[in-house]
Amino acid sequence: MFENSDLNLTMDKERKLIIAGNWKMNKTVAEALDLVNGIKRDLGNVKELDIVVCPPFTALGEVSKAILKSNIRLGAQNMSEHNFGAYTGEIAAGMLKEFSVRYVILGHSERRQYQKESDALVAKKALAAHGASLKPIVCVGETLGEREAGKTEKVLETQVRDSLAGLNKEQMGETIIAYEPVWAIGTGTTATAAQAQETHSFIHFLLGKIFDESVARRVRIQYGGSVKPSNARELMSLPDVDGALVGGASLEERSFADIVKNSI
Ligand code: PEP
Repeated sequence: MFENSDLNLTMDKERKLIIAGNWKMNKTVAEALDLVNGIKRDLGNVKELDIVVCPPFTALGEVSKAILKSNIRLGAQNMSEHNFGAYTGEIAAGMLKEFSVRYVILGHSERRQYQKESDALVAKKALAAHGASLKPIVCVGETLGEREAGKTEKVLETQVRDSLAGLNKEQMGETIIAYEPVWAIGTGTTATAAQAQETHSFIHFLLGKIFDESVARRVRIQYGGSVKPSNARELMSLPDVDGALVGGASLEERSFADIVKNSI
């Protein structure tokens, strides 16, 4: 499908899978603790892949304490592009670091849609995240209309170039990309294995073009969009799929744990 497909840089599976749960605006502190304690009980011995939970800001403190010295890592769902100052309602990277946050989701399609976040803003946030030694998870993905109009490649190229603008090669290597087709988020419709592999391969190819091949080989690209226990094994076994960003199915211990276990 992609015009560059003959040049695709299909990656061998040298990258560690990273599976992150995006809890969105769900869970009180007590509910968040219940969930994360269950995840810890179930997945506390998993070493084969990186496991990240991204609770709402209000639960970061307690979840952070609950996962201390465990294999579960903490992520936030957003942050400001500024380090401090008069930005009412915003949270800076340094504030997240106080809770031992390691990852931060940036440019999720819901923020692009509801808060009108642009690629340029996402790029500023990614730079600010790296400035505080947080690893950004930068989300990209096309809408159904864009896919049906044959514009997937073009849309992704713009998002990848512009949302990562200004990162140096070292920073890019420490950045995670989440490919989340908008039509698959929260809809129950998942990209087929062929669609996911083709698109991830294209993004790795793009990274090789924009940065260089050794950077492209390091960057992990998560798939997001209705990942469930029943489709995780097939998706995670694809050569260019390096993990998952899970929304709905991460809100329940059993389904998140099964996604992780089925991915090993
Ligand atoms: C998401 O919002 O990042 C996501 C992938 O959601 P879901 O798994 O519910 O489709």
